[in-house]
Amino acid sequence: MQQLATPEIWFVCGSQHLYGPGPLEEVARNAREVAETLDASGQLPLRLVYKALLTTPEEIRALCLEASRDPNCAGLVVWMHTFSPSRMWIGGLSVLSKPFCHLHTQYNRELPWADIDMDFMNLNQAAHGDREAGFMHTRMRLGRKVVVGHWTDAVVQAQLGAWARVAHAWSDLQGAKFARFGDNMRYVGVTEGDKVAAEIRFGVAVNGYGVGDLVERVDAVSDAEVEGLIDEYESSYEVADGLHKGQERHGSLRDGARIELGMRAFLEEGGFKGFTTTFENLHGLKQLPGLAVQRLMADGYGFGGEGDWKTAVLLRALKVMAGGERTSFMEDYTYHMSPSPSSSQSQVLGSHMLEVCPTIAAGKPRLEVHPLGIGGKEDPVRLVFDAPTGPAINASLIDLGGRFRLIVNEVEAVPHPDLPKLPVARAVWECKPDFKTALAAWIYAGGAHHTVYSYALKSEYMEDFAEVAGIELVVIDEHTRLRELKNELRQNDLTYTLAQGLRN
Ligand code: MN
Repeated sequence: MQQLATPEIWFVCGSQHLYGPGPLEEVARNAREVAETLDASGQLPLRLVYKALLTTPEEIRALCLEASRDPNCAGLVVWMHTFSPSRMWIGGLSVLSKPFCHLHTQYNRELPWADIDMDFMNLNQAAHGDREAGFMHTRMRLGRKVVVGHWTDAVVQAQLGAWARVAHAWSDLQGAKFARFGDNMRYVGVTEGDKVAAEIRFGVAVNGYGVGDLVERVDAVSDAEVEGLIDEYESSYEVADGLHKGQERHGSLRDGARIELGMRAFLEEGGFKGFTTTFENLHGLKQLPGLAVQRLMADGYGFGGEGDWKTAVLLRALKVMAGGERTSFMEDYTYHMSPSPSSSQSQVLGSHMLEVCPTIAAGKPRLEVHPLGIGGKEDPVRLVFDAPTGPAINASLIDLGGRFRLIVNEVEAVPHPDLPKLPVARAVWECKPDFKTALAAWIYAGGAHHTVYSYALKSEYMEDFAEVAGIELVVIDEHTRLRELKNELRQNDLTYTLAQGLRN
């Protein structure tokens, strides 16, 4: 992954002085053991570091200030081993600017029924200590994830792992820069949005750059660099006949390689984590960047077509969560409508003009060149492949004017017949709960045709992300019923307007 730091998560345990120094030492030992076990579980993408046992408002506030200030801290896992009066936490939580996860666990798994005494009771008090903490988090309207269960359980560790991946993505977005080459596609609505609001909400800066500046960088690429990259293409892909050195279309491949090298240099020099392109703004570029965008996405850059910077930001975040694996820019392109009245077996064919990430390729991609009906440029080179079958999600981030909504549909990618005349990367999937319900729900919610498509992530990650960002989440899954969903959308309009006020 390009431009990716590896911060750590801090583990913090809450208690109070009522118990005396002896029990507090034991509480601290227990907390350290819990943190070290979770850290060694292999379920967390970042180091989990035992940080402190906190017993006073001053300690709590100092720790929260330190966490907020330290760029190497991506978030906190908090646990009240014993009772920790929650008003002690108000000062600290008020200044905490990092995400936190509330682990509701207990040091002992099972009760020693025959031997239980008041000492045991005093040292296994999360049942009420964590309730006291939860009250204050709720009272302060703080977004957080609550994970319940014994700290050695695989499910608990996996839930913490999902949250830690989201915390990593959130940390990565703060201060991230995204470059737009050209504007949004003319007259398109859903790819538009308020970049000021996005910077306030997600911490990202999105700025436009002249295509001429990019062209200058493309033109500065040396022939030797182009040849080196073509060698890499030859070893990584099945290069189509006609594109090899000395063949009639080799010039197209050289142009594609030059565009990739120029874009890559521009993005690296500017420290960008993602970008957009627009086929209407290509002045001076010989081809619409297809192969270049695909390979840059595979290296972890966020991307959105037609100036869609919101999807570029979302793709970067999901790529960080997914560790760069099996996650792509996608577009709901066309349908296979089954004649069955239940709409079972109706399917969506997802693709884009060119730009689908090869991290979702089922096999070795083919490198081909074909005409493109729009853009008025030379034929662009692109990677052509099928995506694998299996569960996946589609996620869309829209701007409702004043606030953002994240929409997720759980889907199942399915096998499909050969597509010999469709020279683009593609995936075919069935939607949950079924085709008609899912599509009506998506359209009622205002979801875009552009999405981030991932085999590596589940709705849980989107829920955690929406919680950290403080935005609305709409999940379309096996439980979705349209009437309930329409009510949910109406109620959320009011809820988020009240909760957020005029801030965005
Ligand atoms: Mn598009």
